[in-house]
This record gives sequence, structure tokens and C-alpha cells, in this order.
Amino acid sequence: MLKFLCFAVKTQLNVHDLNNEAVAGNVTDIRIMEFLDEKGQRQEAPAVSGRMLKHWHCEAFRHLINHGAYKDVPLCDGCKVGEPIRPGEIRDGTLRQVAKSESDAVTSCAVCDVHGYLIARQAEGEQEAGTSARRTTRAMFSWLMPVLDKEAISRQVIHNRVSSDPGTMMPFSKAYASGFYGFISALDIDRIALIESKLGNSNPYAIEDGTGRKDRIKVAIEAYRYLISGHLGASLSHAVPHGNPIEVLVAYSESGPLPFPVSPMYPDYVPRTEGLMPAGTTLLYWGDGMPSKANVKNTIDDIFSELIGRVG
Ligand SMILES: [Zn+2]
Repeated sequence: MLKFLCFAVKTQLNVHDLNNEAVAGNVTDIRIMEFLDEKGQRQEAPAVSGRMLKHWHCEAFRHLINHGAYKDVPLCDGCKVGEPIRPGEIRDGTLRQVAKSESDAVTSCAVCDVHGYLIARQAEGEQEAGTSARRTTRAMFSWLMPVLDKEAISRQVIHNRVSSDPGTMMPFSKAYASGFYGFISALDIDRIALIESKLGNSNPYAIEDGTGRKDRIKVAIEAYRYLISGHLGASLSHAVPHGNPIEVLVAYSESGPLPFPVSPMYPDYVPRTEGLMPAGTTLLYWGDGMPSKANVKNTIDDIFSELIGRVG
């Protein structure tokens, strides 16, 4: 049974607008991040925030439950419709955040369980008014960053909001970027459905393996397929990236937590990750590289098949 899982993904994404948070007037610009290369030289290039990656993992997770093979996995009213109101309930026709014990929140919603939540002020429920209740995420994401030895580019394009009245035509500019990118992510599987305050009890889990916990784990793993395909940011209505996955490195453990892998933004991340992981780690790899310790798979689906098989 899996306890901890890490992904290191390198992919080419052409003509995307996955993070267009920088808006000024009628110009929407893609976010540019500053960072250092391996020689310490300052660089800047388009990047996509880890918050965005986490959001899109959450979206894939939700869609797989609402429309896929995991319909029995429960979601609260907020997570069912993709509103970041966790835990959410419709009361009197209005969706609102509700105070619940962590056990109740985790039992009634897989997204609240895996992606966590923060109830800043509780007006009712088990905790006193004014206190906070939070559950930390089990899914962690880096930013999507350009690969250091490759060029990344972006370009402004003028669009026009079309109207039958020529006087109301409104030109606006958007930036689109292209490049090779990498991200890392970790899924703390052993802590899915775990209520940490109950550690030491005979059963600290809110739900059992046989009553839905394994399905939550499987759907959390399956959601990564969508991120690898480039389904991980904004402007998907008109700028789905031309994605071309290059390498996928997975590290998993059936005995305990793992460190994060070395980022695929660095050229030698595979041997350095192999050298970092503790004994008992299994490494899976898809791509053109020559890993020394990782089990090389023919397809990305082969990686997912092994991971899902290890959940049982
Ligand atoms: Zn929820």
C-alpha cells in the first residue's frame, strides 16, 4: 500500500496563457518570474504558480468524482461545484462555509480531506466562536518553472471583442508563452483521511480502506494525468497548450514519507533524485533519459497503472 508519492514532470508547452494574473487596462500579461540559474545569474521567464497547479489538481479530482468512475466518493456542496468554500453547505439556498469537526469534514468530503481547508472564524459548531480550524493539504505543488537549459519565449497578441456595432469593438492584448517547463508535486497518501489529533488511538482514520479511502487515493493519483497533459492553468477556453510531455519521474514509498525530488528545471535532476531518495523508495521513469535506478516504463499510463495497482 502506497504511503507517499512524488512526481517530477518535464513537459513542453507551446502557445499557452496558463497564468495571466497580471492585468493592466486592456492588456493581460502572463506572469513572469525572476529566478537564478545554476551559475547564480538572474533570469526571468513565464511561470505558473503552484497555487494554480493545486487548483487544477483539485478541479481534475472534482470532475473525476462528478463525472467519472469515482461517483461514490463524497464531496461537500462547495467542492461539488468547484467553489473554494471548504467545507461548504447549501443552507437556505446559499452556499456557505460551515463549522464542522475535522472528522465530519473529512468523512463528508474527499477534497476537504486531500486539499485541506481553513475556517478562519467559526460562528458555530464544535469550536468556540472566533477560533480557527484548519486541515493541512495532503497534495503539495511547486510552481511550474522553465527548464534552465532551454529558451522560453512569450509574445503579445491583439484580440478583438467582436460586436455588430463597430463603435463598440474593443481590441485587447494578451500574452502567450512557449517553452519547456518542470514541476514537482508530492501526495502524502498515508495522511489521506487521517485525523492527526487521533494519532495514538487504535484507529486515527476518519474512513477505512474498505469504505472509500482507497478510492480517494486513486482519484487523487489519477488527477495528475491532467496536469501532465498541460491542463493546469488559465485560458483553457481558447489557449489549451500544445503539450508535449518529455519526462515523468515518480518516487513512491510503501514504508514512510519521502523527500521532494530534485526539480526537473535542472538538467541532472534524475540522478540527483535517485541519489537523494532513501532505501526502500521505488522510482518509475518515462522519457528518453537513462536513469540508473528507476524502473523505465514504456508509457505514462504504465506509471499510473503501477501506482493504482499499489493502492489495491
Ligand atoms: Zn469539500
